[in-house]
Amino acid sequence: MIKWRCRICGYIHAGASPPDICPVCGGTANDFKIMEDFFPQTSKKEIQRIIVIGNGAAGMEAARTIRSQNDTIEILVLTEESFPFYSRIHLSTFIGDESRVEDITIFPEPWYVEQNILVKLGKKISTISPRRKLVTDQTGQEYQYEKLIIATGASPFLPDIPGVTKNGVLVLRNLKDALKIRETVKTHQRAVVVGGGILGIEAASSLNRLGIDTTIVEMADHLMPLQLNIRAAEVLQKILQDSGLTIICKTRVTELTGNSKLRGINLHTGKSLSTDLALFSTGIIPNIKLAREAGIKTGRGIWVNEKMETTVPHIYAAGDVAECNDTLHGIWPAAVDQGIIAGTNALGFSQNYSGNMPLHILKVAGLEMTAVGQKSKMHPNDQVIEYLNHEHAQYVTLIHNSHILKGAIVLGVPGIGFRLEKLIKKQVPIAPIISELERSNWDILKKYRP
Ligand SMILES: Cc1cc2nc3c(=O)[nH]c(=O)nc-3n(C[C@H](O)[C@H](O)[C@H](O)COP(=O)(O)OP(=O)(O)OC[C@H]3O[C@@H](n4cnc5c(N)ncnc54)[C@H](O)[C@@H]3O)c2cc1C
Repeated sequence: MIKWRCRICGYIHAGASPPDICPVCGGTANDFKIMEDFFPQTSKKEIQRIIVIGNGAAGMEAARTIRSQNDTIEILVLTEESFPFYSRIHLSTFIGDESRVEDITIFPEPWYVEQNILVKLGKKISTISPRRKLVTDQTGQEYQYEKLIIATGASPFLPDIPGVTKNGVLVLRNLKDALKIRETVKTHQRAVVVGGGILGIEAASSLNRLGIDTTIVEMADHLMPLQLNIRAAEVLQKILQDSGLTIICKTRVTELTGNSKLRGINLHTGKSLSTDLALFSTGIIPNIKLAREAGIKTGRGIWVNEKMETTVPHIYAAGDVAECNDTLHGIWPAAVDQGIIAGTNALGFSQNYSGNMPLHILKVAGLEMTAVGQKSKMHPNDQVIEYLNHEHAQYVTLIHNSHILKGAIVLGVPGIGFRLEKLIKKQVPIAPIISELERSNWDILKKYRP
């Protein structure tokens, strides 16, 4: 039996060939690589016990990497979460459909027994003592480590707006939040999603699908300001509005009104929205407190070098909590790749993290959107190929420099986003197909095999 690993989300498939579609992220068969390809073949020092804090993508990938290279080492994963490792990516749809927790669980309990990885759920770690090489949970129980990997992820950022703690204000980061949202929406007809980024849009679409009258309020000029330009955002906005969402851009929330219970939202324009449910999707902040209090250097995240080493010996960090080369990635593929590097290096190997290109995928209201790499011209020699078809709700922009693609935004043209991502990542010259691309023949991308 061959084990295949999705290079986008880390999903493992066992079989003679890779699956056509990755059940976690939707990647194609080409995105799967044979597992052994990922691991280095160098010597290692003997280590008896590694502790991982956090059972998200980074933590579990680190644990899995360690086990794949060493059959006997003791691996202990301590996590605040009360569920085994699941796909956080699927929470946005989970709130609006009828899938069960098992459907989004990536590793169910028997997997941990099989892998001889001990996961302790419901264990919030409150201190790390690098001097004594131990961590302590909220009940005071201590756990000794030889190497420690901090993969504590991030928490939703709630802006400091009067009334933000009122009953009826929700966030979506983990399965517990998602189950709470599912329960809460049963008794609500109206909702406001604050934040028109990718997660806000996904959550709003799910609420809309449930028949809840949903409004998105976005502070920037347009939706998804970090990934899209104004023209792409206009196409997206139109599709979302046609699906039944109300969208208000260039607007700040100034106050949440009501007594203890939310009744409405005041906007800086003077307008008020009547609602008893608000879902805040206004960014994330890495969970660095634990590390900072242990004397590990932190900035916006935990500082790590390209080996995922923190500033304190024997301690590594990976995923949304880690800041590498001034960058907080905040995306699943980066958490997976960093988890692999942290796990590998904790074992005594030496591997470097080479970064992840920004890749954002949105699938809502029958629309497929991919934004990868640069979203606009950054250098004087950058060239842009742009295509806009309002009637068919399609938009493509390709940014290239001397026929090497640097970035792409694709809306409403299915099946080419991943291909463009590959061309960008591998720096494949597009000179042989440039005239076809300029004529908006996007099918050429599906056939182009340089
Ligand atoms: C709704 C939603 C949709 C998303 N969609 C996408 C997408 O489409 N594509 C994409 O690339 N990314 C997406 N992301 C982001 C992606 O999920 C994250 O980048 C990724 O999960 C980060 O993994 P991580 O392991 O670093 O952190 P997390 O997955 O957050 O895991 C951290 C774990 O550490 C635990 N923990 C924290 N503090 C402690 C402590 N003190 N003690 C013990 N345990 C602790 C937490 O409980 C948690 O289980 C999405 C995120 C959300 C919330």
